[in-house]
Amino acid sequence: IWGQACAELEQSVGPNNYNHWIKPLRLTAIDDGAARFASPTRFISDWVNRHFAKEIMAVLTRNGAPVERLRFDVGAVAAARPAAQAAAPAGHAPEAPTARAPRADLGAPLDPRYTFSNFVVGKPNELAHAAARRVAEGGPVGFNPLFLYGGVGLGKTHLMHAIAHDYQTRHPAAQVLYLSAEQFMYRFVQALRESSIMDFKSMFRNVNMLMVDDVQFIAGKDSTQEEFFHTFNALVDQGKQIVISADRAPAEIKGLEERIKSRLSCGLIVDLHPTTYELRLGILQSKTEVFRAQQPDLEIGAGVLEFLAHRISTNVRVLEGALQRLFAHASLLRREITLEVAQECLADILRTNDRKISIDDIQRKVAEHYNIRLADMMGPKRARNVARPRQIAMYLSKQLTSRSLPEIGRRFGGRDHTTIMHGVRKIEELLAEDSSLVEDVAVLKRMLEG
Ligand code: ADP
Ligand code: MG
Repeated sequence: IWGQACAELEQSVGPNNYNHWIKPLRLTAIDDGAARFASPTRFISDWVNRHFAKEIMAVLTRNGAPVERLRFDVGAVAAARPAAQAAAPAGHAPEAPTARAPRADLGAPLDPRYTFSNFVVGKPNELAHAAARRVAEGGPVGFNPLFLYGGVGLGKTHLMHAIAHDYQTRHPAAQVLYLSAEQFMYRFVQALRESSIMDFKSMFRNVNMLMVDDVQFIAGKDSTQEEFFHTFNALVDQGKQIVISADRAPAEIKGLEERIKSRLSCGLIVDLHPTTYELRLGILQSKTEVFRAQQPDLEIGAGVLEFLAHRISTNVRVLEGALQRLFAHASLLRREITLEVAQECLADILRTNDRKISIDDIQRKVAEHYNIRLADMMGPKRARNVARPRQIAMYLSKQLTSRSLPEIGRRFGGRDHTTIMHGVRKIEELLAEDSSLVEDVAVLKRMLEG
């Protein structure tokens, strides 16, 4: 039964996920509705439990073994599998060259939920999304490398996985390799230790698409950078696609060699801007639909999603976590999610989000940035060189704090809420046409969000 189940699982989760996570498991028993697996590491069993439990239970049930729970015994399985499949723990004795991990094991598994269809597009990410789509099509007018950057939780990893899924579907025979820069370093160091650097090189140089996530990680790590540089050049020379992400633009990554910065900059660089209220609301609505599909009787009170989009403005991951918690709460207690329930259930998240950035911080940072006096934030001066930064501070106050317009007005020397609204709108208009302002605002936000 496990053999048949495995074949079906490989189909449904894809070969990468299957090889990495499910193949290492051994089914040892099924009794009383629980399937028992031997798993080589806790990491694997946790991951499987989190991502594939439903799928595994469904497949086993479909194959005549009704199962509603999974159990894992960790550490008991190694002998039963080929050595190459072991998620070799650090310090593992070097294996014979023939037993080296196959290519699929070089990369990290792709999250099946991170697809283009699950990615909500809005102003802040439309350019990055369009570039990602283009690269996934794999046409001749490539951007190579595609360099995506932006703050934490804005969707870089999601987009990279989406590219990989889409590209792989269009080009089933292509080798797509996705991994974090940290994993790249780990593989590299491991290859050095096992004297298998030639294999390492040839494996990396034989892929059709290489995706390295969070490349800022290799800054300051000289031999890893060196190897990365050579890998990068070899692939680009062969016309292979490269996709890189980082938390900031190449030029701003400290400790990264100049030649790498310039290599990274010769394709297309696009950034994911901090989310807007509209985008956050769109993401919440789309995630809610997914939950609703599983649990049609879920009731969400009017204004709850708007409230969340307004109050949790930093990071999409936090937003998702909040929504998930609300749904869990609602389904356990069989209660409608009202605004009050949301406030109570998410009090801790809402508090940390509030504490994070104050209007004071914003005024101080903006004044510093534009070299004006802090007092001018509150003062009456109308000269452009003072009024514009003041409006930027208003805009940021609206975006990054949960203060209302009248409250913000009070903090800007007792201005009327319509003045604040006018300032916010003005900056929004300018952002649409002035790319240096976009840069400025992004830098300010990043400093404030820390
Ligand atoms: P990053 O790699 O930039 O830190 P992630 O790609 O890990 O961010 O995104 C964090 C979470 O937010 C993920 O669960 C991702 O699916 C979700 N997310 C981010 N942006 C979007 C979006 N535009 N639409 C849907 N989900 C998103
Ligand atoms: Mg990421």
